[in-house]
Amino acid sequence: MIRLEKILLSNNNKRLTYHFQCPGVESYFKRKRSFFIEYEEDISTCPASILTVPFLANMAPIAWFLDADLYVPTIDSTFLKSINTIKALFLHHHPNRNFQSNIIYDKIETIYSENPLKTALLFSGGVDAFTSFIRHAKESPRLILYHGADIPLRDTLQWKSCQSYFQRLDPIATLPCSIVKTDFREFYTYHLHALVSADWWALVQHGLALTASLAPLAHLHGLGKIYIASSDTDFAWGSTPETDSAIRWASTQVINDGSELSRAEKVGLIVETYRDLPAKPLLRVCYSDAKESLNCGVCEKCLRTAVTLALHGANPMDYGIPLPDKPFQYLFEAFQHGRFASNPSNLRLWKQIENLAAQAKPLNFIIPESDRYYLRKLAQKELSQFIQLSIERKRTEKGTPYINFKTKVALQFPLAFSVYLGLRRRLSRHLTHHSNRNRLQ
Ligand SMILES: [Zn+2]
Repeated sequence: MIRLEKILLSNNNKRLTYHFQCPGVESYFKRKRSFFIEYEEDISTCPASILTVPFLANMAPIAWFLDADLYVPTIDSTFLKSINTIKALFLHHHPNRNFQSNIIYDKIETIYSENPLKTALLFSGGVDAFTSFIRHAKESPRLILYHGADIPLRDTLQWKSCQSYFQRLDPIATLPCSIVKTDFREFYTYHLHALVSADWWALVQHGLALTASLAPLAHLHGLGKIYIASSDTDFAWGSTPETDSAIRWASTQVINDGSELSRAEKVGLIVETYRDLPAKPLLRVCYSDAKESLNCGVCEKCLRTAVTLALHGANPMDYGIPLPDKPFQYLFEAFQHGRFASNPSNLRLWKQIENLAAQAKPLNFIIPESDRYYLRKLAQKELSQFIQLSIERKRTEKGTPYINFKTKVALQFPLAFSVYLGLRRRLSRHLTHHSNRNRLQ
């Protein structure tokens, strides 16, 4: 049983802290038995059922996977229906589970907002978020920025650089914006990741957590729709068009936006939108620990986005992504030397890019002849053939595909792994800082 004990309002009624008990399933939670969500607004006027939505959104999936009942004193009637629909959708993706879990409550409320005409958009500055911003700019959506989601709460350095990036960005300057700070990725232990043999946040938590944790904001600002940009994936994931679009509470519904577009098409839409405008938007795509600026330019995600921009006829530098000297040669070598992982997800995304390369739009920056050779190889789909072969080799070597060595270590030695991650982050920043300094001297 997981039991919500109390909801504490603090920091001038802007912070919600959920205190809970979890007899029988303690090992899945950190000792503090609480997590918080902090808004910039005073949320004390929200009804108890609305304040309970974020707790349920983060805790219900855990209860399903642990076959544990979940108790809250008060519940929103619309969210109760919604969470049961989402439970059935998740069960479909995890057929080996039972999901023998019930939501128990003392009181049920039905809340209607008077004027739920406004919209909001979860905004990270990446390709998906920018595409949804372009598609819904006319609605003047409230942009929502999270600290504690893709940027860890303790990583104040990255948050600072992210904030300065947002301050330089046009959409932020002209639209209403809310920052939400939370530790909702940090109240459970590695046992939860082990339960799904993957990252809990990515595989289960993030769609429901990122959207429904906004319930108090939706109540205050009259948000009828919350857009979450689709991710281009083709497997069970914490955010899908089906699960996200089933999320609703009070007078608010969540919309998974842009799933009909591939990632390559989204980049194309961004390029078309800004082609004739002098200032292009800076895209924030990089999650590399080693980066010192907005995007490192050499990780798989940076290079994938940069190459897609280039093949749409844009200069990646205009969009804030630096390029290696010979980007196409670098790309092939990074896969061949194992610096970039070969997996089914990458394979699908690189196939989209190969199709673009085959259409051979002229690039608007000069590349040396040796790099043109690799560009032709890309157009001839040699990269996807290489990735495909690597995946098959890994399958036959290991027997169990896609659970790499690092994930296994993380699951078996959780504490040691989290210390390792912290050290690695510090070390790579230190090394990048020094190599940059040496280069400048
Ligand atoms: Zn990068």
